[in-house]
Amino acid sequence: MSVETAPTRIRFVLVGTQHPGNMGAAARAMKTMGLSRLVLVAPEKPLDDEAFRRSAGAEDVLGDAPVVATLAEAVADCTLVLGCTARARRVQLEELLPAVAAQRALAKAAEPAEVAFVFGRERTGLTNEELQLCHLAVHIPSNPDFSSLNLAAAVQVLAYETRMAVLGGIDGAAPADPEFREQPASHAQVEGMFTQLGQALDDIDFHKGRAPESAMRKLRRLFLRTGLSEQEVRLLRGILSDAQRMARLANAKPE
Ligand code: SAH
Repeated sequence: MSVETAPTRIRFVLVGTQHPGNMGAAARAMKTMGLSRLVLVAPEKPLDDEAFRRSAGAEDVLGDAPVVATLAEAVADCTLVLGCTARARRVQLEELLPAVAAQRALAKAAEPAEVAFVFGRERTGLTNEELQLCHLAVHIPSNPDFSSLNLAAAVQVLAYETRMAVLGGIDGAAPADPEFREQPASHAQVEGMFTQLGQALDDIDFHKGRAPESAMRKLRRLFLRTGLSEQEVRLLRGILSDAQRMARLANAKPE
């Protein structure tokens, strides 16, 4: 199951929202990060003009959001429910950082399975009963003396981390723009480069009588750490070839 379609199985659930504007702003925050499944649990007031105005182009996400009576109903078909809480360590749940939570959500959604991030009321957050419906808690490590983000801002943080997880793949590799993704160099290609590097260092008399092993060991460690692409190996070998050519020319010069 592909990671690309996994976000369609991640929903954002807003419980008992008090200000309709925040529901619109949350829809916008989600859409900017490629997420579209919003669920509203018993909002205090129905969606109004202010809500749609604040959605600023995400009217589709907001307008499509089902409204249900309870959190239990909103997450009935979910295998993973992540409760976002402004108060650290208030509940007896494992507490995750947003980036870790997003990784878990994406991995679960890719199985495939349904996943929910749950957000509480502006004034009072989620009740203990609601938190008990969650498998894990998520806390944005904010200022402990001023820990509560605006609801839509908290949605933005989780939506952003979810997008980062999607771009980076499930294993948390550095996010890569798919347009610029390069083929990783094979083991043999990298070893070929190391052989040429060893020869080039001899050709330019880099070692000056010292044993070459120590420098080569450090250079191997440096290059292996970076995860070279095929193109990067070609570029480096081009530079080495030129250095070798210049060394030959220099050696051929009459004294
Ligand atoms: N006074 C409330 C804060 C509610 S803010 C309380 O103490 O719980 C509205 C919602 O935004 C919260 O229920 C939570 O889901 C989310 N939120 C705000 N700040 C957060 C933070 N630092 N970490 C995780 N979620 C947060």
